[in-house]
Amino acid sequence: MKDHDLAAEFAGLIGADNVFVQEEERAGYCHDRLPYANFRAREGSRVGTLPGLVLRPATTDEVAGIVRAAAEHDLPVIPYGSGSGVLGGTIPLGDELMVDMQRMNRIRAVDADNHLVTVEAGMNGGAFEEALNAQGYTSGHLPQSLTISTVGGWAACRGGGQESSRFGKIENIVVGLKAVLPDGRTIEVRPLPKRATGPSVLDLIVGNEGTLAIITELTLRIWKLPEAEEKIVFALPGRAAALDLAKRVMQAGLHPRIVRLYDEKETSGRTGGIDAFSQRPVMANIVVCGEESIVAAEAELVRRLALEYDAVETETRPFDEWREKRYVSITKQWLDRGYYNDTIEVTVNWSKAAALYDTIAAQVAELHPEAHFSAHWSHVYPEGVCQYMTFRLPPMEQSAALPLHARMWEIAEGETLAHGGSIAHHHGSGLFRAPWMDGEHGVGMDLLRKVKQAIDPQNLFNPGKLGFPAREGAVDPYRDRGVNV
Ligand SMILES: Cc1cc2nc3c(=O)[nH]c(=O)nc-3n(C[C@H](O)[C@H](O)[C@H](O)COP(=O)(O)OP(=O)(O)OC[C@H]3O[C@@H](n4cnc5c(N)ncnc54)[C@H](O)[C@@H]3O)c2cc1C
Repeated sequence: MKDHDLAAEFAGLIGADNVFVQEEERAGYCHDRLPYANFRAREGSRVGTLPGLVLRPATTDEVAGIVRAAAEHDLPVIPYGSGSGVLGGTIPLGDELMVDMQRMNRIRAVDADNHLVTVEAGMNGGAFEEALNAQGYTSGHLPQSLTISTVGGWAACRGGGQESSRFGKIENIVVGLKAVLPDGRTIEVRPLPKRATGPSVLDLIVGNEGTLAIITELTLRIWKLPEAEEKIVFALPGRAAALDLAKRVMQAGLHPRIVRLYDEKETSGRTGGIDAFSQRPVMANIVVCGEESIVAAEAELVRRLALEYDAVETETRPFDEWREKRYVSITKQWLDRGYYNDTIEVTVNWSKAAALYDTIAAQVAELHPEAHFSAHWSHVYPEGVCQYMTFRLPPMEQSAALPLHARMWEIAEGETLAHGGSIAHHHGSGLFRAPWMDGEHGVGMDLLRKVKQAIDPQNLFNPGKLGFPAREGAVDPYRDRGVNV
């Protein structure tokens, strides 16, 4: 079928104004925020392809119509939220149809009785949270990318927000959804607190990254905005003390809205002029919130635990400055100056956290004399923690930088697996984590591939992502990388 016939067929389904054919209209959809792709783009090279067409449906039925037509013509599709993903999840590898969800952007209902909100998947996260706040609620999911991502993208990537220690990760917040399957059927999971009816269908769809279903609507938990909070900033003698304090806070059953621990490098970048950090070079920020009497009790216990670690409480300025800029990224500043900056977030049990940090830091230091490595810990659990690491190489030829960059990923992900951790805490897996998916899941990856094959036998939905196979003729995104990971 010729391209213009195809465009006309989709125009018949969703209106000609919502079908984008021109190269300049499609060009913005050939990348997301994957740093590797942005490095390559600096030299004018593209990791994948352009999408064949960009389609903007407005309803679940229109999404289903697109999927049925795509299946008939054997054309692959990629759902697109806002392209804030950092793993290449929306990068087309073979002219896929891009299903941009931006017109599905309304809150459908706030259910005050059951503390639920139902929202269309393409709604911008910032607009969503603002609308909830105006009614006295929060969803509790506040990723750094809040204003540049969609609610559907959060669920698709199994994300985590900055207040996850209190409100949970997105898989704890989403309780129901509607989604379109590769055969064009719509599946609905009713929003209930719990069911014991076999493996969770909801969990098959949350985290699918567009490979099994296109999410069109979500029902999330909501919370009344906290009436009070207390901010506590400690200077601590070392990383081990900070990690242990956070572990004790979580194992004591407290529900802080924020716990942020920074290594020495990240602490020193945030605490200039505060004396306490010259003797105690590691910062912990702990914020408790809720009803006044609970806040007072939780804050008192946090302070009591901190005494056991020789912590000194300081002014809250470093936390206030972080909060002021909490939705701003510094990555672009490095990119524009020719640096190779990347971040990798992994999950590890408390008992392995310190050793994981030490071995990665040592190996990165050996890679290149000017390689930067630092970390913070801002998602904490009773049993473990997310280690959020920043890696940076100075400006140099890409032919030298790309193999070093690949090696950093290999060190971070390889060592995480060797320490029994998970290769991804909240950014998802997309394209770039595919090499480690078998190591992550073991036999479980075989199970997931079988599920993919059963649900999507034509391999129509986001092929080549999450460690699933690409389609024949797809481009190799790692060509010219100078290394095999
Ligand atoms: C500066 C910065 C900070 C970030 N901070 C955080 C953070 O704090 N926490 C966090 O979790 N993430 C963070 N991220 C990563 C990213 O913002 C999240 O993964 C986000 O959830 C992606 O949403 P999106 O709408 O932009 O999705 P996209 O990038 O458009 O898509 C991501 C993946 O989800 C799929 N997808 C999108 N919408 C749907 C849908 N409706 N149905 C099925 N599949 C779909 C896509 O096909 C793709 O595979 C950050 C990114 C940046 C650039």
